[in-house]
Amino acid sequence: MGSAIGHCLLIEEDDKLVLIDSGIGLLESKEPEKRLGKELIEVTGFEFDESLIAIRQIEKLGLNPEKVEHIICSHLDPDHIGGLMDFPKAKVHVSKEEYEAFKGGDERYLQQQLDHDPDLKLYEVNDAEWFGVAARKVAVSSESELYLIPLFGHTLGHCGVAIKANDEWIFYVGDAYYLRAEIEDKNHPVDQLATIRAVDNEMRLESLDKVRELIHNFGNEMDYFGYHDPTELK
Ligand SMILES: [Zn+2]
Repeated sequence: MGSAIGHCLLIEEDDKLVLIDSGIGLLESKEPEKRLGKELIEVTGFEFDESLIAIRQIEKLGLNPEKVEHIICSHLDPDHIGGLMDFPKAKVHVSKEEYEAFKGGDERYLQQQLDHDPDLKLYEVNDAEWFGVAARKVAVSSESELYLIPLFGHTLGHCGVAIKANDEWIFYVGDAYYLRAEIEDKNHPVDQLATIRAVDNEMRLESLDKVRELIHNFGNEMDYFGYHDPTELK
C-alpha cells in the first residue's frame, strides 16, 4: 500500500490528557526486532522514527506525559497498542469482544504489549446511539463526550471512536478503512490487503458500508479520519 502512518489523537482537558490509540512504543522503536519480531516488521514494512512516537510528540507539545490518564483503543493490533506501556498508569478502554479475542491467543496480537498489566475498562453493551448507529459511552470524564462505535470485522472487537471536541464531532474510524479513497471507491486495490487482514471479512465490509453511510449522510457535520492514511492530517 505504499507508505502508511499511525495517527494517534490526543485530547487535552483541564486536568488531564486522553489518548486515542497509542501507536508504536518507545522501546519498540529503539529495539524493534527484539520487541516486535523480525517477521512482523518484514510483513508490515514498519519503519521507526522515535520523534513520531506518541510520548515524544506529547513532550514536544510541552505537555506532561504523566497526565495521560486514559487511553482508548480502537482495537489491540500491535501497531496500535505498543505505546500503552509508555503510559503505565493510564486506564485502558477497549471493547470486551476485542480483549477476549486478544486473550484468546490469536497470533495477530502480541501478548507482551499488555505485560505491564494496565487498569482495563471493558465495554460490552451498546448503551447509546450516535447519528443513528449503535454506540458505547466511554467513561473518561464529565467534560468530554466519547463513544466507541462498533465497527467489527477487521478484528472481532474493532471500534471507531466518536469524540465531541469544541462542539464539533470527530469520527475516528481506526482501521475500518485503510485509505480514505475507499469511501468512494468500492474496488480500491487496498481492499485486498484489508481482506487478508480481516478476521471476519463479511463483517468488515458491513462495517465499511456503515462508515460510508455515516459519512455520506453526516460527513459535513463531522471531521473524520482513519489510522493509516498518510494524506489525512498531513
Ligand atoms: Zn489493525
